Amino acid sequence: LADAHRVIVHADMDAFYASIEQRDHPELRGKPVIVGASSPRGVVAAASYEARRFGVRSAMPGFRARELCPQGVFVASDIKKYAAVSEQIQRVFAEFTPLVEPLALDEAFLDVTASLPLFGDPMTLARRLKQRVRDETGLAVSCGIGPSKLVAKIACALGKPDGLKWVPEGRTRELLDPLPIGWLWGVGPATEERLRARGIETIGGLARAEPDRLRDVLGERAAALVALASGHDEREVQPDRMAKSYGEENTFERDVHEREIVTRTLSSHAQAVAARLRHDRLLARTVTLRIKLARARGERSRSSRQGAPDYPLLSRSKTLPHPTDDGAIVRRIAIELWDAAAITAPVRLLGVSVQKLSAAGDEQLGLFEAETARMRRLGPALDAIRARFGDRAVRFGSEEPKKLTPSMRKKRGV
Ligand SMILES: [Mg+2]
Repeated sequence: LADAHRVIVHADMDAFYASIEQRDHPELRGKPVIVGASSPRGVVAAASYEARRFGVRSAMPGFRARELCPQGVFVASDIKKYAAVSEQIQRVFAEFTPLVEPLALDEAFLDVTASLPLFGDPMTLARRLKQRVRDETGLAVSCGIGPSKLVAKIACALGKPDGLKWVPEGRTRELLDPLPIGWLWGVGPATEERLRARGIETIGGLARAEPDRLRDVLGERAAALVALASGHDEREVQPDRMAKSYGEENTFERDVHEREIVTRTLSSHAQAVAARLRHDRLLARTVTLRIKLARARGERSRSSRQGAPDYPLLSRSKTLPHPTDDGAIVRRIAIELWDAAAITAPVRLLGVSVQKLSAAGDEQLGLFEAETARMRRLGPALDAIRARFGDRAVRFGSEEPKKLTPSMRKKRGV
Protein backbone atom coordinates (compact mmCIF):
# COMPACT_ATOMS: atom_id res chain seq x y z
CA LEU A 1 0.00 0.00 0.00
CA ALA A 2 2.88 2.33 0.75
CA ASP A 3 3.89 2.06 -2.90
CA ALA A 4 0.60 3.57 -4.00
CA HIS A 5 1.65 6.83 -2.37
CA ARG A 6 5.17 7.04 -3.67
CA VAL A 7 6.20 10.26 -5.35
CA ILE A 8 9.03 9.83 -7.81
CA VAL A 9 10.73 12.55 -9.81
CA HIS A 10 12.60 11.90 -13.03
CA ALA A 11 15.00 14.80 -13.59
CA ASP A 12 16.72 15.03 -16.96
CA MET A 13 18.86 17.88 -18.30
CA ASP A 14 17.79 19.27 -21.68
CA ALA A 15 20.26 18.59 -24.53
CA PHE A 16 22.91 18.37 -21.81
CA TYR A 17 26.28 18.57 -23.60
CA ALA A 18 24.98 21.00 -26.22
CA SER A 19 23.41 23.27 -23.58
CA ILE A 20 26.71 23.41 -21.67
CA GLU A 21 28.55 24.48 -24.83
CA GLN A 22 25.89 27.13 -25.55
CA ARG A 23 26.17 28.38 -21.99
CA ASP A 24 29.98 28.65 -22.19
CA HIS A 25 30.07 30.07 -25.72
CA PRO A 26 27.34 32.72 -26.08
CA GLU A 27 28.00 32.93 -29.84
CA LEU A 28 26.57 29.39 -30.09
CA ARG A 29 23.20 30.29 -28.56
CA GLY A 30 20.28 29.93 -30.93
CA LYS A 31 22.50 27.95 -33.32
CA PRO A 32 22.28 24.27 -34.28
CA VAL A 33 25.10 22.94 -32.07
CA ILE A 34 26.26 19.36 -32.58
CA VAL A 35 28.65 17.94 -29.99
CA GLY A 36 31.00 15.04 -30.50
CA ALA A 37 31.15 14.67 -34.27
CA SER A 38 33.94 17.15 -34.94
CA SER A 39 35.49 14.74 -37.42
CA PRO A 40 33.19 13.46 -40.18
CA ARG A 41 33.65 9.90 -38.91
CA GLY A 42 32.85 10.68 -35.27
CA VAL A 43 29.43 10.15 -33.71
CA VAL A 44 27.03 12.78 -32.40
CA ALA A 45 27.10 12.85 -28.59
CA ALA A 46 24.42 15.52 -28.28
CA ALA A 47 22.46 17.95 -30.44
CA SER A 48 20.93 21.26 -29.41
CA TYR A 49 17.19 21.71 -29.95
CA GLU A 50 18.00 23.94 -32.92
CA ALA A 51 19.93 21.00 -34.48
CA ARG A 52 17.22 18.47 -33.61
CA ARG A 53 14.83 20.41 -35.82
CA PHE A 54 16.94 19.19 -38.74
CA GLY A 55 16.62 15.58 -37.56
CA VAL A 56 20.05 15.37 -35.92
CA ARG A 57 20.09 12.90 -33.01
CA SER A 58 22.71 11.57 -30.61
CA ALA A 59 24.61 8.43 -31.70
CA MET A 60 24.15 9.47 -35.34
CA PRO A 61 27.35 9.31 -37.45
CA GLY A 62 28.91 12.72 -38.07
CA PHE A 63 28.58 12.52 -41.86
CA ARG A 64 24.83 11.92 -41.56
CA ALA A 65 24.49 14.91 -39.21
CA ARG A 66 26.38 17.01 -41.79
CA GLU A 67 24.02 15.89 -44.54
CA LEU A 68 20.95 16.79 -42.48
CA CYS A 69 22.34 20.01 -41.07
CA PRO A 70 25.21 21.45 -43.14
CA GLN A 71 24.95 24.75 -41.27
CA GLY A 72 25.46 22.95 -37.93
CA VAL A 73 28.20 24.13 -35.57
CA PHE A 74 30.28 21.05 -34.75
CA VAL A 75 31.97 21.16 -31.34
CA ALA A 76 34.42 18.63 -29.87
CA SER A 77 33.05 16.62 -26.96
CA ASP A 78 34.52 17.48 -23.57
CA ILE A 79 33.34 14.71 -21.28
CA LYS A 80 35.44 15.92 -18.32
CA LYS A 81 33.63 19.24 -18.33
CA TYR A 82 30.25 17.55 -18.61
CA ALA A 83 31.14 15.22 -15.74
CA ALA A 84 31.97 18.23 -13.55
CA VAL A 85 28.54 19.76 -14.29
CA SER A 86 27.04 16.33 -13.61
CA GLU A 87 28.56 16.42 -10.14
CA GLN A 88 26.96 19.81 -9.53
CA ILE A 89 23.49 18.62 -10.48
CA GLN A 90 23.82 15.38 -8.52
CA ARG A 91 24.72 17.48 -5.46
CA VAL A 92 21.58 19.56 -6.00
CA PHE A 93 19.47 16.40 -6.28
CA ALA A 94 20.89 15.26 -2.94
CA GLU A 95 19.47 18.43 -1.32
CA PHE A 96 15.98 17.08 -1.97
CA THR A 97 16.33 13.42 -0.95
CA PRO A 98 18.99 10.85 -0.16
CA LEU A 99 17.15 8.43 -2.47
CA VAL A 100 18.76 9.44 -5.77
CA GLU A 101 19.44 6.92 -8.50
CA PRO A 102 21.58 8.39 -11.30
CA LEU A 103 20.78 6.90 -14.72
CA ALA A 104 23.41 8.77 -16.70
CA LEU A 105 25.54 11.89 -16.31
CA ASP A 106 22.50 14.10 -16.80
CA GLU A 107 19.50 12.27 -15.38
CA ALA A 108 18.31 10.61 -12.19
CA PHE A 109 15.31 9.23 -10.40
CA LEU A 110 14.53 10.77 -7.02
CA ASP A 111 12.14 9.22 -4.52
CA VAL A 112 10.90 12.36 -2.76
CA THR A 113 8.04 10.72 -0.82
CA ALA A 114 9.60 11.39 2.58
CA SER A 115 10.76 14.92 1.65
CA LEU A 116 7.33 16.25 0.68
CA PRO A 117 6.42 17.54 4.17
CA LEU A 118 9.53 19.77 3.97
CA PHE A 119 8.67 21.28 0.60
CA GLY A 120 4.88 21.14 0.40
CA ASP A 121 3.38 19.52 -2.67
CA PRO A 122 5.26 17.74 -5.49
CA MET A 123 5.02 20.71 -7.88
CA THR A 124 6.55 23.10 -5.34
CA LEU A 125 9.38 20.67 -4.67
CA ALA A 126 10.09 20.21 -8.38
CA ARG A 127 9.96 23.97 -9.06
CA ARG A 128 12.54 24.48 -6.31
CA LEU A 129 14.69 21.72 -7.75
CA LYS A 130 14.57 23.26 -11.23
CA GLN A 131 15.49 26.66 -9.79
CA ARG A 132 18.40 25.22 -7.77
CA VAL A 133 19.80 23.48 -10.86
CA ARG A 134 19.49 26.75 -12.79
CA ASP A 135 21.19 28.72 -10.00
CA GLU A 136 24.09 26.26 -9.79
CA THR A 137 24.65 25.56 -13.47
CA GLY A 138 22.69 28.08 -15.53
CA LEU A 139 21.02 25.14 -17.29
CA ALA A 140 17.50 23.81 -17.64
CA VAL A 141 16.40 20.49 -16.19
CA SER A 142 13.08 18.87 -17.10
CA CYS A 143 11.16 17.13 -14.33
CA GLY A 144 8.43 14.52 -14.51
CA ILE A 145 6.59 13.51 -11.34
CA GLY A 146 4.58 10.34 -10.88
CA PRO A 147 3.74 7.41 -8.61
CA SER A 148 6.25 5.15 -10.40
CA LYS A 149 9.49 5.31 -12.36
CA LEU A 150 7.64 4.59 -15.61
CA VAL A 151 5.16 7.43 -15.19
CA ALA A 152 7.79 9.90 -13.93
CA LYS A 153 10.04 9.18 -16.91
CA ILE A 154 7.25 9.54 -19.47
CA ALA A 155 5.96 12.72 -17.81
CA CYS A 156 9.48 14.15 -18.02
CA ALA A 157 9.85 13.28 -21.70
CA LEU A 158 6.44 14.78 -22.54
CA GLY A 159 7.26 18.07 -20.82
CA LYS A 160 10.61 18.74 -22.54
CA PRO A 161 12.25 21.17 -22.94
CA ASP A 162 12.37 22.92 -19.57
CA GLY A 163 9.43 20.74 -18.60
CA LEU A 164 7.54 20.29 -15.37
CA LYS A 165 4.74 17.75 -15.42
CA TRP A 166 3.00 15.96 -12.56
CA VAL A 167 0.86 12.90 -13.17
CA PRO A 168 -0.88 11.88 -9.92
CA GLU A 169 -1.79 8.25 -9.22
CA GLY A 170 -5.39 8.63 -10.38
CA ARG A 171 -4.41 10.00 -13.79
CA THR A 172 -1.83 7.39 -14.72
CA ARG A 173 -4.05 5.50 -17.15
CA GLU A 174 -5.17 8.71 -18.77
CA LEU A 175 -1.49 9.45 -19.49
CA LEU A 176 -0.41 5.98 -20.58
CA ASP A 177 -3.39 4.63 -22.54
CA PRO A 178 -3.15 6.82 -25.68
CA LEU A 179 0.67 6.69 -25.97
CA PRO A 180 2.21 4.73 -28.86
CA ILE A 181 3.34 1.29 -27.72
CA GLY A 182 6.99 2.14 -28.43
CA TRP A 183 7.01 4.46 -25.40
CA LEU A 184 6.85 1.49 -23.03
CA TRP A 185 10.11 0.28 -21.53
CA GLY A 186 11.17 -3.02 -23.00
CA VAL A 187 9.38 -2.47 -26.31
CA GLY A 188 12.06 -1.98 -28.96
CA PRO A 189 11.40 -1.39 -32.67
CA ALA A 190 11.08 -5.12 -33.53
CA THR A 191 8.68 -5.90 -30.67
CA GLU A 192 6.74 -2.77 -31.55
CA GLU A 193 6.33 -4.00 -35.12
CA ARG A 194 5.05 -7.40 -33.97
CA LEU A 195 2.57 -5.85 -31.56
CA ARG A 196 1.30 -3.54 -34.29
CA ALA A 197 0.84 -6.57 -36.53
CA ARG A 198 -1.49 -7.86 -33.79
CA GLY A 199 -3.40 -4.60 -33.83
CA ILE A 200 -1.84 -3.32 -30.59
CA GLU A 201 -0.78 0.25 -31.25
CA THR A 202 -1.01 1.94 -27.85
CA ILE A 203 0.02 1.26 -24.27
CA GLY A 204 -3.69 1.07 -23.41
CA GLY A 205 -4.15 -1.58 -26.09
CA LEU A 206 -1.45 -3.70 -24.51
CA ALA A 207 -2.89 -3.15 -21.02
CA ARG A 208 -6.21 -4.62 -22.17
CA ALA A 209 -4.57 -7.64 -23.87
CA GLU A 210 -4.55 -11.17 -22.50
CA PRO A 211 -0.89 -12.03 -21.67
CA ASP A 212 -1.28 -15.68 -22.67
CA ARG A 213 -2.32 -14.69 -26.15
CA LEU A 214 0.83 -12.58 -26.60
CA ARG A 215 3.25 -15.28 -25.53
CA ASP A 216 4.31 -16.02 -29.11
CA VAL A 217 5.12 -12.33 -29.63
CA LEU A 218 6.54 -11.36 -26.23
CA GLY A 219 7.75 -14.69 -24.87
CA GLU A 220 8.38 -14.86 -21.15
CA ARG A 221 7.96 -11.10 -20.84
CA ALA A 222 4.28 -11.10 -21.81
CA ALA A 223 2.79 -10.91 -18.32
CA ALA A 224 5.34 -8.35 -17.08
CA LEU A 225 4.86 -6.05 -20.08
CA VAL A 226 1.06 -6.18 -19.86
CA ALA A 227 1.33 -5.30 -16.15
CA LEU A 228 3.72 -2.45 -16.93
CA ALA A 229 1.34 -1.16 -19.63
CA SER A 230 -1.38 -1.15 -16.96
CA GLY A 231 0.79 1.16 -14.87
CA HIS A 232 2.03 -1.47 -12.40
CA ASP A 233 5.63 -0.52 -11.83
CA GLU A 234 6.89 -1.30 -8.35
CA ARG A 235 10.59 -0.77 -9.07
CA GLU A 236 12.21 1.19 -6.29
CA VAL A 237 14.58 4.12 -6.62
CA GLN A 238 17.97 2.68 -5.74
CA PRO A 239 20.48 5.13 -4.30
CA ASP A 240 23.76 5.04 -6.22
CA ARG A 241 25.88 3.52 -3.49
CA MET A 242 23.79 0.39 -3.64
CA ALA A 243 24.26 0.02 -7.37
CA LYS A 244 26.17 -3.08 -8.35
CA SER A 245 27.00 -1.77 -11.78
CA TYR A 246 27.53 1.58 -13.50
CA GLY A 247 27.02 1.68 -17.22
CA GLU A 248 26.56 3.83 -20.28
CA GLU A 249 25.24 2.60 -23.59
CA ASN A 250 23.72 3.84 -26.80
CA THR A 251 21.77 2.53 -29.74
CA PHE A 252 22.96 3.76 -33.11
CA GLU A 253 20.52 5.19 -35.60
CA ARG A 254 22.07 3.09 -38.32
CA ASP A 255 24.12 -0.07 -38.02
CA VAL A 256 27.77 0.65 -37.42
CA HIS A 257 30.86 -1.27 -38.43
CA GLU A 258 33.59 1.41 -38.63
CA ARG A 259 36.27 0.81 -36.05
CA GLU A 260 36.75 4.52 -35.44
CA ILE A 261 33.10 5.05 -34.53
CA VAL A 262 33.25 2.00 -32.25
CA THR A 263 36.39 3.15 -30.43
CA ARG A 264 35.13 6.72 -30.06
CA THR A 265 31.85 5.46 -28.67
CA LEU A 266 33.59 3.11 -26.23
CA SER A 267 35.92 5.93 -25.25
CA SER A 268 33.05 8.27 -24.48
CA HIS A 269 31.19 5.60 -22.48
CA ALA A 270 34.36 4.70 -20.53
CA GLN A 271 35.04 8.33 -19.57
CA ALA A 272 31.44 8.82 -18.46
CA VAL A 273 31.41 5.65 -16.35
CA ALA A 274 34.74 6.56 -14.73
CA ALA A 275 33.48 10.07 -13.93
CA ARG A 276 30.48 8.55 -12.16
CA LEU A 277 32.77 6.24 -10.14
CA ARG A 278 34.87 9.21 -9.03
CA HIS A 279 31.79 11.22 -8.19
CA ASP A 280 30.61 8.45 -5.87
CA ARG A 281 34.12 7.70 -4.61
CA LEU A 282 33.96 4.15 -5.84
CA LEU A 283 36.38 1.85 -7.65
CA ALA A 284 35.52 -0.97 -10.01
CA ARG A 285 37.37 -4.17 -10.84
CA THR A 286 35.33 -5.63 -13.70
CA VAL A 287 34.74 -3.98 -17.07
CA THR A 288 31.95 -5.33 -19.27
CA LEU A 289 31.35 -4.64 -22.95
CA ARG A 290 27.84 -5.11 -24.35
CA ILE A 291 27.33 -5.46 -28.07
CA LYS A 292 24.05 -5.90 -29.89
CA LEU A 293 24.56 -7.18 -33.42
CA ALA A 294 22.54 -5.59 -36.19
CA ARG A 295 21.84 -8.89 -37.90
CA ALA A 296 18.54 -10.35 -36.71
CA ARG A 297 18.52 -14.00 -35.77
CA GLY A 298 17.13 -16.41 -38.36
CA GLU A 299 13.37 -16.75 -38.41
CA ARG A 300 13.60 -20.39 -37.45
CA SER A 301 15.84 -19.99 -34.43
CA ARG A 302 14.48 -20.92 -31.04
CA SER A 303 14.57 -17.42 -29.57
CA SER A 304 12.82 -15.99 -32.60
CA ARG A 305 9.92 -18.37 -32.18
CA GLN A 306 9.59 -17.19 -28.59
CA GLY A 307 9.33 -13.62 -29.79
CA ALA A 308 12.37 -11.97 -28.25
CA PRO A 309 15.20 -11.11 -28.29
CA ASP A 310 15.50 -10.27 -31.96
CA TYR A 311 19.14 -9.35 -32.17
CA PRO A 312 22.02 -11.33 -30.69
CA LEU A 313 23.33 -9.60 -27.59
CA LEU A 314 26.94 -10.35 -26.70
CA SER A 315 28.61 -9.58 -23.43
CA ARG A 316 32.34 -9.73 -22.67
CA SER A 317 33.95 -9.02 -19.30
CA LYS A 318 37.40 -8.71 -17.86
CA THR A 319 38.33 -8.46 -14.21
CA LEU A 320 41.37 -6.37 -13.35
CA PRO A 321 43.96 -7.26 -10.70
CA HIS A 322 43.35 -3.87 -9.06
CA PRO A 323 40.23 -1.73 -8.85
CA THR A 324 40.16 1.54 -10.80
CA ASP A 325 38.17 4.71 -11.44
CA ASP A 326 40.35 5.77 -14.36
CA GLY A 327 38.61 6.35 -17.68
CA ALA A 328 41.76 5.55 -19.70
CA ILE A 329 41.97 2.09 -18.12
CA VAL A 330 38.25 1.38 -18.58
CA ARG A 331 38.58 2.53 -22.19
CA ARG A 332 41.64 0.34 -22.85
CA ILE A 333 39.90 -2.77 -21.46
CA ALA A 334 36.69 -2.05 -23.40
CA ILE A 335 38.65 -1.77 -26.66
CA GLU A 336 40.64 -4.94 -25.83
CA LEU A 337 37.35 -6.77 -25.27
CA TRP A 338 36.02 -5.41 -28.56
CA ASP A 339 39.12 -6.59 -30.45
CA ALA A 340 39.03 -10.00 -28.74
CA ALA A 341 35.37 -10.44 -29.68
CA ALA A 342 36.45 -10.18 -33.36
CA ILE A 343 33.07 -8.83 -34.47
CA THR A 344 32.77 -8.66 -38.24
CA ALA A 345 29.03 -7.89 -38.48
CA PRO A 346 27.61 -4.37 -38.02
CA VAL A 347 26.44 -3.48 -34.52
CA ARG A 348 23.42 -1.49 -33.37
CA LEU A 349 24.18 -1.04 -29.68
CA LEU A 350 27.36 -0.58 -27.64
CA GLY A 351 27.60 -0.38 -23.89
CA VAL A 352 30.38 -0.16 -21.32
CA SER A 353 29.70 -0.97 -17.69
CA VAL A 354 31.73 -1.70 -14.57
CA GLN A 355 31.05 -4.13 -11.74
CA LYS A 356 32.65 -5.41 -8.51
CA LEU A 357 32.48 -1.96 -6.95
CA SER A 358 34.25 -1.00 -3.75
CA ALA A 359 34.61 2.21 -1.78
CA ALA A 360 37.65 4.21 -2.93
CA GLY A 361 39.23 4.25 0.52
CA ASP A 362 38.83 0.55 1.23
CA GLU A 363 41.62 -1.18 -0.61
CA GLN A 364 45.08 -1.60 0.87
CA LEU A 365 48.00 -0.40 -1.17
CA GLY A 366 50.65 -3.06 -1.69
CA LEU A 367 54.28 -2.63 -2.69
CA PHE A 368 53.61 -3.03 -6.39
CA GLU A 369 50.49 -0.94 -6.56
CA ALA A 370 52.11 2.44 -6.90
CA GLU A 371 51.07 2.65 -10.53
CA THR A 372 47.47 1.91 -9.68
CA ALA A 373 47.60 4.68 -7.11
CA ARG A 374 49.07 7.07 -9.66
CA MET A 375 46.37 6.22 -12.16
CA ARG A 376 43.71 6.70 -9.50
CA ARG A 377 44.99 10.17 -8.77
CA LEU A 378 44.99 11.15 -12.42
CA GLY A 379 41.21 11.38 -12.81
CA PRO A 380 40.49 13.73 -9.90
CA ALA A 381 43.62 15.74 -10.76
CA LEU A 382 42.33 16.38 -14.26
CA ASP A 383 38.95 17.34 -12.85
CA ALA A 384 40.65 19.80 -10.49
CA ILE A 385 42.84 21.33 -13.22
CA ARG A 386 39.77 21.86 -15.36
CA ALA A 387 37.84 23.38 -12.49
CA ARG A 388 40.69 25.85 -11.91
CA PHE A 389 41.92 26.70 -15.39
CA GLY A 390 38.90 26.04 -17.54
CA ASP A 391 37.71 23.22 -19.66
CA ARG A 392 40.23 23.71 -22.49
CA ALA A 393 43.19 23.21 -20.15
CA VAL A 394 43.35 19.43 -20.43
CA ARG A 395 42.39 17.25 -23.32
CA PHE A 396 42.97 13.59 -23.95
CA GLY A 397 44.84 12.76 -27.13
CA SER A 398 42.23 10.14 -27.88
CA GLU A 399 39.51 12.77 -27.95
CA GLU A 400 41.20 14.76 -30.70
CA PRO A 401 40.11 14.22 -34.27
CA LYS A 402 42.75 12.26 -36.18
CA LYS A 403 43.30 15.03 -38.72
CA LEU A 404 42.88 18.73 -38.12
CA THR A 405 41.45 20.70 -41.00
CA PRO A 406 43.14 24.05 -41.73
CA SER A 407 40.23 25.96 -40.20
CA MET A 408 40.37 23.86 -37.03
CA ARG A 409 44.14 24.44 -36.78
CA LYS A 410 43.54 28.16 -37.06
CA LYS A 411 40.87 28.08 -34.39
CA ARG A 412 43.12 26.22 -32.00
CA GLY A 413 46.25 28.13 -32.87
CA VAL A 414 48.29 25.09 -33.91
MG1 LIG B 1 19.07 14.64 -20.95
